[in-house]
Amino acid sequence: QLVEQLKSLDQKHFLHPTSSIEEQQIYGPAAIFCEGKGIYLKDLGGKTYIDGMSSLWNVNIGHGRTEIAEVAKEQMEKLAFSSCFATFSNEPAIKLAAKIAQMAPGDLNTVFFTSGGSESNDTAIKLARHYWILKGQPNRQKIISRTLSYHGVAFGSTNATGIEGFRKFTNSPAPDFYYVNKDSAAELRKLILELGPENVAAFISEPVQGAGGVNVPKPDYFKEVREICDEYGVLFIADEVITGFGRTGKNFGIEHFGVVPDMMTFAKGVSSGYVQLGGVLISEKIHRDLCALSKGILMHGYTYSGHALACAVGLKNIEIIEREGLVQNAKEMGEEMLKGFQALQKKYDFIGKVRTFGLLGAIEFVKNRETGERFDPLLSPIAVKEMVKRGLILRTVTYDQDTLVFSPPLIITKDELNDILRIVDETLAYLQNEVVV
Ligand code: PLP
Repeated sequence: QLVEQLKSLDQKHFLHPTSSIEEQQIYGPAAIFCEGKGIYLKDLGGKTYIDGMSSLWNVNIGHGRTEIAEVAKEQMEKLAFSSCFATFSNEPAIKLAAKIAQMAPGDLNTVFFTSGGSESNDTAIKLARHYWILKGQPNRQKIISRTLSYHGVAFGSTNATGIEGFRKFTNSPAPDFYYVNKDSAAELRKLILELGPENVAAFISEPVQGAGGVNVPKPDYFKEVREICDEYGVLFIADEVITGFGRTGKNFGIEHFGVVPDMMTFAKGVSSGYVQLGGVLISEKIHRDLCALSKGILMHGYTYSGHALACAVGLKNIEIIEREGLVQNAKEMGEEMLKGFQALQKKYDFIGKVRTFGLLGAIEFVKNRETGERFDPLLSPIAVKEMVKRGLILRTVTYDQDTLVFSPPLIITKDELNDILRIVDETLAYLQNEVVV
């Protein structure tokens, strides 16, 4: 009764993010979640699911942590919020900024806080452009990103996103945003030269693309990118919104590639989704230049930049990640996940490539391994629906590929991982018998 009531209210009053509106109008929400514990979610109908995506790649420490609830209550009673505008500050924001600076590679030592990934990327893009204005190179305003990249849905982050559908939403691609093939550093150099280095502000990239299909670059890709950016004075922004805070088996994804970006954006795992939080790390050089050249006010800031409650939760979340060795667990369980994927690949002819990078994973479906031909209709959306029935939440990527993606909480144990792999196996067996044939 309650579920039916809520479903109809949902259909009438709640426009979901990135929803399939048609499907929503016919069926209503597939699940109304009401509880979470560890890697599990429960819906109002009493059904339990494994959250194989850490919800939206973000609940790194798992659901239902009492410690987080306690620190949130304590901070909320003491000081939930005070403005950090201009010269005001608060203790959790200061401590969290210092902690993140200590975790980050190289000289990325100063943090600007936001409430999420889109705001972080918009901030990084604006800071890059502003930086060049301050440096007396106001024409350096162009932003380059990679095909299949995802950077969010605010204005700048949408335009930096290399998945076309997000830009087509408003049918108005902005000027000054450009895209290069995700696999080619040579193409980046070529484009910078075509645009004129004196016109290019920054290159932005996820260390490993998430929404684009867990696309892992070649090992030397970012070394080449760093060299090219240095050669032409272009700033390099790493979008660590998914890859930050342990997801890849290191604190930050870019550390695997041995380079230090000029700015790094983060969100999701910084608070494991318990509250909305994100930010941008900037290098000491950029910070120094900003301090030396800025006259007057930094005309950029959100009401919730440095939100005391959010930052207190972020601090506790990082404490848990460190205390429980979750970065190392992501590395080890990622290796286990790869072994599981490879076993499935041997068993099912319709699995093409498989890959993992820490606790990010992908299984690609192909009709023909040699030609790479795909199924029509694509298989991964059917697989995801079948898995939900069997109590496992995963995601599908269908731009340019037919892929099942994985991003389980970093707390996952080997037994829990085997549960995921077992449900995937059962579902693929079903697909083989009923769908692929
Ligand atoms: N950047 C990346 C790599 C992301 O995966 C996302 C969200 O999925 C974003 C940015 C946008 O973050 P948010 O949805 O918190 O605005």
